[in-house]
Amino acid sequence: MAPGCFVRTRSLPPGADELSGYFVRMSTLQDVAERDGWRCWVCDEPVDPAMPVNDPRGPSVDSRTADRKSKLPERLAHRACNTRKGAVKVVIPWPDRLNVLEPAPLITVADRLDRKGGRELVARCPARKDAQEAADWLVDRFSRLTPNLPLTATVDTGGGQYLVTLSTTRR
Ligand SMILES: [Zn+2]
Repeated sequence: MAPGCFVRTRSLPPGADELSGYFVRMSTLQDVAERDGWRCWVCDEPVDPAMPVNDPRGPSVDSRTADRKSKLPERLAHRACNTRKGAVKVVIPWPDRLNVLEPAPLITVADRLDRKGGRELVARCPARKDAQEAADWLVDRFSRLTPNLPLTATVDTGGGQYLVTLSTTRR
């Protein structure tokens, strides 16, 4: 063997079909977790790195986003937030404290803004204060939900209500 050659071992762990794939898989959880700052992308709460991976509050890689056309990467989720196996859609909850009417499904909005750009009406509020709170929450929430998609939130009046709109400046 010349120096610098790699030895292919036959004793791979179960489920590993090739050596490089094995190492890729081994680093995925750590990589995804660090990219997401050890925070669950579904419920937006911290994930404890010390939790066992089979604990409901333990870390897991959520690949429900990975096969979408939007090219959203795999994300870190609590095992419990990620176990709706076969779920067609990920639901990103709006907090109960926000007083919003007809809140839009955020992952759908994120997907469309990512693909098409532009702006989307995401909620209506009875008062300006409610709308501003929702706008502030959205900007903060999307900074983690779609870190590569620069978004701004604006509050406009319309039909006697306050309308919250998300826009992206990216082309
Ligand atoms: Zn979670």
